[in-house]
Amino acid sequence: MNTTVIIGNGVAGTNAAATLRMNGYEGAIKLIGDEVSLPYQRPPLSKAWLQGPDRPQPTLIRPLSFYEDNRIDLMRARKVVKIDRNKRRIHFADGKTMKFNTLILATGASPRRLNAKGANLKGIHYLRDLGDSARLRQALSDPGCRDVAIIGAGVIGLEVASAAVNLGRTVTVVEAAARAMARVASPATTNFVTQKLKDAGVQFLFNQKIERFGAAERRVSSIHLGDGSQIKTDLVLAGIGATPNIALAEAAGLECDNGICVDQDMRTSDSEIFAIGDCARGENEFASGKLRIETIHNATTQAQIAAAAICNKERPTPVPPRFWSDLKDMKVQAVGISSGYDLVRSNASQHPSTLETHLKCGERLIAAEIVNLPIRQSALARAISPRIPVDTQ
Ligand code: FAD
Repeated sequence: MNTTVIIGNGVAGTNAAATLRMNGYEGAIKLIGDEVSLPYQRPPLSKAWLQGPDRPQPTLIRPLSFYEDNRIDLMRARKVVKIDRNKRRIHFADGKTMKFNTLILATGASPRRLNAKGANLKGIHYLRDLGDSARLRQALSDPGCRDVAIIGAGVIGLEVASAAVNLGRTVTVVEAAARAMARVASPATTNFVTQKLKDAGVQFLFNQKIERFGAAERRVSSIHLGDGSQIKTDLVLAGIGATPNIALAEAAGLECDNGICVDQDMRTSDSEIFAIGDCARGENEFASGKLRIETIHNATTQAQIAAAAICNKERPTPVPPRFWSDLKDMKVQAVGISSGYDLVRSNASQHPSTLETHLKCGERLIAAEIVNLPIRQSALARAISPRIPVDTQ
């Protein structure tokens, strides 16, 4: 019997296992992860859950019974340390090995670390997994935590800023770039969102470099900035991006370049080894050049593509990438890739809490961003196509 081994049981790996079974795959499926908990959703870790014990727990991707019912061998707290491509075996940290016919790498990404002096002080947090979120939640709810500094005005940083300001903390966001969410959204949307967060009490410092962290009793107590100013702080959350977990793939000689390089079927440079989710980088029908996308939608879509290829099924119809974020009382959603556009048109006049922004390249709509207009997302996704120019005006 053939065996498909999946390394990483986040949303990409878990969906790959589920879709293999849906596609009629009859071989053995080994779904391996190094975390202890049942596979869970990461988005709640930076959102409402941070705001107190009465908030809903992060949800499981599937209930335990799903794995049993679908003959998916879910292996938790097992770290894979080596892929032997010649012998078609993986090696675990405890010395055991396992054979594979097909291998899927769904190893995700890790938070980029700060490198300024004092970056290892207590009170400086990162956010990727359940443990990080539990520690941050506890620290934010401590009555001694009054001043919170967020480093990085990306999605995760702004979500934590929203949670902290809701808890009554004084929040300052320090960002190296000139605006928030610069990697994922247009200036029209990020300026709108930034203003709403400012109205809620969040302070922003743009174009700022961190020189060093100051300490009191070995805990972080201040941040010293490049312009000579300093911020007093009781807690720091660093949300400065993520780096793909590619060490296993690199050591196995697979082609990597800011991610594990994949083709349109999510195949790596070894045709029986696939890579999906945050760790994978390849071409995307809705953008030019190679991309590594860190969203739930991307992880799920790539899992479906890899499972189809393994089962010799037709590649699923391409759908535009999408993501969402919850910031204060705003639901921010985007479809398509916010780059390569030459025209931005926003409609903010309908209601002060909503915004719809269209990003066009020539006549073609290539991406759209909405705030508090979830009803528009599907129509906008349908309108974005590389083949059919559709105007949604
Ligand atoms: P991961 O979820 O990182 O899973 C990879 C798993 O592989 C991990 O459990 C890792 O420990 C394990 N692993 C790695 N190496 C090994 C090894 N050698 N052996 C065994 N196991 C290994 N996206 C959105 O679209 N909307 C949101 O609102 C949103 N919010 C987010 C909030 C937070 C706090 C975070 C961290 C992410 C958020 N994202 C959001 C991004 C989204 O969660 C990720 O894109 C998605 O989880 C990626 O899934 P993945 O399976 O590729 O990787």
